[in-house]
Amino acid sequence: MSRLLIMGPPGAGKGTQAASLAERIGAAHISTGDIFRENVSQQTELGRTAQQYMDAGEYVPDEVTNAMVRDRLGQDDAGNGFILDGYPRTLDQVDTLDEILAGLGVQLDGVVSLVVDTDEVVARLLKRAETSGRSDDTEDVIRHRQEVYHAETAPLLSVYTERGLVREVDGLGEVDEVARRIDAALDAPG
Ligand code: ADP
Repeated sequence: MSRLLIMGPPGAGKGTQAASLAERIGAAHISTGDIFRENVSQQTELGRTAQQYMDAGEYVPDEVTNAMVRDRLGQDDAGNGFILDGYPRTLDQVDTLDEILAGLGVQLDGVVSLVVDTDEVVARLLKRAETSGRSDDTEDVIRHRQEVYHAETAPLLSVYTERGLVREVDGLGEVDEVARRIDAALDAPG
């Protein structure tokens, strides 16, 4: 399995797990949140557009995000496999991803769904807020990001479940323990 999505609510630990999984399987880790943050810090035009949405806990418009991912998936390293972290988050992004992958002549191998309790993730994010310096880590924005996730992104799991791609993993516990569960879920017969 080398072309994967990792999904879960904000604070589920997607970024941490995606980075270490990418290293274990030799795939590119593609985090839309990280790419947006890099652009914000370098004050690019994309960064200026994205920042206003991110600070409000809203999604960046699909056309902006889709163009960015299309470009990123076309780069050489993604040819050895990729883990998409934080994309797709809307049905429009699902359609675009289908189209991008069809154009590249490849298919998704699986979707890792990190399952966590909302109160637990809000607590985690509030703790991270003390040190992350992320401007979207304030309590109101954290709660709003959870609502947006449940309204816009959680429904995507049904789409991928219907395609038989989803592997659920309990996201509660130590980082290494969750990583072992992810490996086991990916090794298990589909
Ligand atoms: P989290 O999962 O904690 O929300 P991310 O780093 O994945 O953190 O995303 C941070 C912000 O970047 C999101 O709240 C959103 O504004 C923007 N973003 C990231 N990925 C997408 C996406 N696929 N579509 C639209 N906006 C996105």
